[in-house]
Amino acid sequence: MDLRQEIEALESEIRRLLGEVDSLEALDRLRVDFLGRKGKITLLTKRLGSLAKEERPEAGKAINRLKTWAAEALEEKMRAVKAAVRARKLQQERVDVTLPGRRVPAGREHPITLVSREITDIFTGMGFDIAEGPEVELDYYNFEALNIPKDHPARDMQDTFYVSDNVVLRTHTSPVQVRTMEKQRPPVRIITLGAVYRCDSDVTHTPMFHQVEGLLVDENITMGDLKGVLTRFVHLMFGRDIGVRFRPSFFPFTEPSAEVDIQCVICKGKGCRVCAQTGWLEILGCGMVDPAVYGFVDYDPEIYSGFAWGLGVERVAMLKYGINDLRSFFENDMRFLAQF
Ligand SMILES: [Zn+2]
Repeated sequence: MDLRQEIEALESEIRRLLGEVDSLEALDRLRVDFLGRKGKITLLTKRLGSLAKEERPEAGKAINRLKTWAAEALEEKMRAVKAAVRARKLQQERVDVTLPGRRVPAGREHPITLVSREITDIFTGMGFDIAEGPEVELDYYNFEALNIPKDHPARDMQDTFYVSDNVVLRTHTSPVQVRTMEKQRPPVRIITLGAVYRCDSDVTHTPMFHQVEGLLVDENITMGDLKGVLTRFVHLMFGRDIGVRFRPSFFPFTEPSAEVDIQCVICKGKGCRVCAQTGWLEILGCGMVDPAVYGFVDYDPEIYSGFAWGLGVERVAMLKYGINDLRSFFENDMRFLAQF
C-alpha cells in the first residue's frame, strides 16, 4: 500500500471511529492512537525518509493535511460530546417539584424571652416606659441609694458578687429606678427588665436570673393605685378568675411593703404539692417607695409619692408553664425549649 492509500485508509478509519465514540475518555484514547507520539499519523511522518526525494514534499503536505484535519475533527467531536454530557447531566439533575421539601431547622424563643415579652406588653399597655441600666453596677446605685446601708444583711458577701469594693454585679434591677429618678422629674412610670446576679445555686436558686421591676411616682399616688395596677397585671397574666392577696412584708426601700400571692394556678386554691397545700403562691414583692429614697434623687416627699414592685421572670414562667425545676431554663436542652 503506498502512502496516499494509507492516508485515505487512516482518514476513513478516523471517520468511522469518531462516529462510534460517545465519551471524553474514548475520544482521548483516539487522539493518542492517531496523533500521539507513537500515533498512527505520527509514525507515517517518519516514513517520509524512505520515499524518493521528489515524492517527499507532496507526501509531507498530504500527511500534514491529514494531521490538521484529524485534530480539527477530534476537537469538534470533543465539543459535541461535552455538550451531550452536559445535557445528560441537566436531564438527570432536573428538580422534581413533587418531592417533599427538606425541613430547615429553626430556633425557638426561650420561655424566659416569651414571658418577659408578655410581662412587658402588659405594663407598657398600662402606660409604663422601659428603662435600662448596667449589669455591672456601682455599690451606690445597687444599695446605698436604695436605703440599704453598709451594714445591711442584704449586702452580705454570701449574696452579692463583688467586682471591687465599690462595684458589684447588680443583685436586682432597682438601681435602674434610682438612675431614672436622678435624670427625670415626676411623673415617672417605668419598668426595668433584665439579668441580676446572686451568689446562690441550688434547686430553687441560680446565680443569674431575670427580674422585672416597676416604679410609678407622681402626685397623690396611693396604695390603692399599687393594688389596682398589680391586680390587673395578675389577671392579664394568669386569668381573671385568679384570686390575689396582699400580705404585709418588709423591704428596705419601700414603706409600707407587701408581698403579693396569687391563688395557686395548678389547683385553683384547693391545695396541692406546688403550693404546699396552702392554695396560694407568692409571686411578687411591692410597696410604697420609702421617702428616704427620694432624698437621694432630690424629690420632695411632701409632694410626691409612688410605688415599686419586683418579680422574678423565671418564677412567673414556672407557674405559667408548670415547670418544676428552675435549672431547666439554663441547660439549653432543645427537647425542653421546643415545647414552648
Ligand atoms: Zn396548689
